[in-house]
Amino acid sequence: MNLSQIASSIPASPTVALNEEARLLREKGEPVIHLGVGEPKNKTPITAILSSVAKISSGEVKYVPTDGTPSLKKAIIRYTEDNYDRLVAPQNVIVSDGAKQAIWNILFALCNPQDEVIILAPYWVSYPEMTKMIGATPVVVTPEDGTFVPSFEEIERAVTSYTKAIILNNPNNPSGAIYPDSLLAKIVDLCEAKGIYMICDDIYNKLVFDGNVAAPAYRFTKKDVENSKVLVVNGVAKLYGMTGFRIGWVIASKRLVEIMTNIQSQTTTCVSPVMQAAAEGALNGMQSVVESLRLMVQNNRDVLMQELRSFSGVHCFKPQGTFYALPDFKAYCTHSMIEDSVDLANFLLKKAMVVTVPGKEFGMEGYLRLSYSGTVKEVTEGIERMKWALDPKAPSEIYIGDRKLVRDWL
Ligand code: PMP
Repeated sequence: MNLSQIASSIPASPTVALNEEARLLREKGEPVIHLGVGEPKNKTPITAILSSVAKISSGEVKYVPTDGTPSLKKAIIRYTEDNYDRLVAPQNVIVSDGAKQAIWNILFALCNPQDEVIILAPYWVSYPEMTKMIGATPVVVTPEDGTFVPSFEEIERAVTSYTKAIILNNPNNPSGAIYPDSLLAKIVDLCEAKGIYMICDDIYNKLVFDGNVAAPAYRFTKKDVENSKVLVVNGVAKLYGMTGFRIGWVIASKRLVEIMTNIQSQTTTCVSPVMQAAAEGALNGMQSVVESLRLMVQNNRDVLMQELRSFSGVHCFKPQGTFYALPDFKAYCTHSMIEDSVDLANFLLKKAMVVTVPGKEFGMEGYLRLSYSGTVKEVTEGIERMKWALDPKAPSEIYIGDRKLVRDWL
């Protein structure tokens, strides 16, 4: 088949593919524990349900403005004022089909072929692939000191005359690390001095633990939204556990929003008004749902850390936010059958029926990303099964109900 070279070089998103694999296994009745998925188990906030149902019941579900309904934009403007201390105009906001499309729109709006986009490892799986899809080049900066936060000097060294943007996700998927204020301030200065865009993927910005704060990059610039290089991406997927509603947005200069609106008008026309009504309901409703979610994942994080403490050979940075952890499993990647994190994740899925995501997908070989967005039971049982599967002294068979799991590789 004679297909586009770029398109055929793009792999499926590994996290989306794993979700599908886990779904199929569950459908077959397999006792799968999903520590791969990045979505909380909570129910949709009632205010989101009511406002989307009201929209459907009106019988008026038609095309709406490409850049978002005025009432959702109003709610986003209020969110931005409350959480970023920035008053922006409706023309500084564009609503997209999830933060994923929002990031795609930004990259497509900014980059020419040859342009470079600096991506900080560990990174979200889609940044490098989206960058490649638009014909630009991802430049990955990996912390040399083995931590999950690159130094400013490492980032500065990666800048060339082709650098168009730096993307960072704070708090970070997959590590759960929060970038220190001092680093953010220096990156803002660097970007503003060199005319580089700083794409702040703030999708987990409220899911922070132990009193930590993921500082908004806006805090480190005196420039207003029209002149600043800081672009903010956010959405309802993680904040309210509304992953299926597919609502994200960007705060940017009017000119950039206009360009992204043109792009979106050619690709999407508009985001469904039903979904926009849901997001509006969530943003305007009781915010205690966010706090409940935060407390739930913080508790799960504590349970996970407790479980990992007795996992021989595994070390884990204590996440400061998100609902992911990135433990170091290098000690288990030295077997002839398990040479890397992909082999290890496959082994755990096949033998223990536990879904994890290989660190390789996030630019961190030897690690596994574990999601603790599910229940405490899933976290404890998942880790216990992993310990069993990787312990050569453990019995080679266990029963989950009447399903026998056999660990016959090691
Ligand atoms: N950015 C990051 C860092 C994410 O983890 C995700 C979802 N996993 C997204 C963006 C995409 O969010 P959405 O579901 O709103 O497209």
